[in-house]
Amino acid sequence: MSEGKVLPVVNADASATARAHVGFDERVGGAGLTLRRAGAVETLQVNVGKLCNQACKHCHVDASPKRTEIMSEETAAQIVEAVRRFRFRIVDITGGAPELNPSFRRLVIESRDAGAHVIVRHNLTVMFEPGQEDLPEFFRAHAVEVVSSLPYFLEQQTDAQRGHGVFNKSVEALRRLNEVGYGVEGSGLALHLVYNPVGAFLPPAQSAIEADFKRELRARHGVSFNSLYTITNMPIKRFLDYLRRTGNEERYMRKLVEAFNPQAVAGLMCRTLLSVDWTGRLYDCDFNQMLDLGVAAGLPQTIADFDPREFADGEITTAAHCFGCTAGAGSSCGGSVVG
Ligand code: SF4
Ligand code: SF4
Repeated sequence: MSEGKVLPVVNADASATARAHVGFDERVGGAGLTLRRAGAVETLQVNVGKLCNQACKHCHVDASPKRTEIMSEETAAQIVEAVRRFRFRIVDITGGAPELNPSFRRLVIESRDAGAHVIVRHNLTVMFEPGQEDLPEFFRAHAVEVVSSLPYFLEQQTDAQRGHGVFNKSVEALRRLNEVGYGVEGSGLALHLVYNPVGAFLPPAQSAIEADFKRELRARHGVSFNSLYTITNMPIKRFLDYLRRTGNEERYMRKLVEAFNPQAVAGLMCRTLLSVDWTGRLYDCDFNQMLDLGVAAGLPQTIADFDPREFADGEITTAAHCFGCTAGAGSSCGGSVVG
């Protein structure tokens, strides 16, 4: 997108989310801003597929134990080769539950060997699946940064979103991570939690709810963590189904549009991140991946063809859901982006 112009419509249908897309383009351009990639792709976010041991209500991946779409060894090898060759600063591994992919440990180890900082989006309960009991030690051995979703510090709200029994298992997993040093001050082992609202509303201020989580988890369960990331529920996939089922789609989209914050645009993760799916195809972010909105035509479309020079200052594919990233304090896989 050039200075002052709006982005092209890429996902037109008659829904409220699509109608809002025109608004997103106008809002970015109308604020005198451009949304283009920054100079270099710093983070390669690798989504190894849709297999998960959970089936959360808000899941933007539609992941579940029944999904069979997972990354092959061949695609994992192409990713490792790209990490080695292009020296991505961060490799951020997600899914589904990425640990269930047979190539998961290889991706971690070889990305670390190539000098990348590795983040794993770890859902906590997967630690209790067969063969996964040593995950805390594995994470520690490879200095992995662990980022885990926990919708709330109370059982009822967490289980309502993620399934019966998930809260207690999650707390037990946090205990195990604490035992090996994760989330413990001075250990250098980072454990961050992710909060997303249990309903059709925006997250509260990150610093305020982080203080609540720290105090309550410590007092009630004796567990600790480093930072809390607040993430806005994106109006796509299972959360969009929920909005439609409950008659909240229009209201939620209006809320996101009205909360558009121009200050969030510069910090949008799609400016420095590239997302790759289980087949090796490239996207500007994981949300676009789930909507099948690939990187702009003319750019390399797969990790096997990736060339960093072609992405520097490149166009970003947007749609209505992008309002989820610019609402309020903004939202990204690293939490709020403003302030
Ligand atoms: S939100 Fe995470 S843990 Fe829940 S189903 Fe989706 S991928 Fe699995
Ligand atoms: S949804 Fe993706 S492309 Fe849209 S603003 Fe957010 S990170 Fe960028």
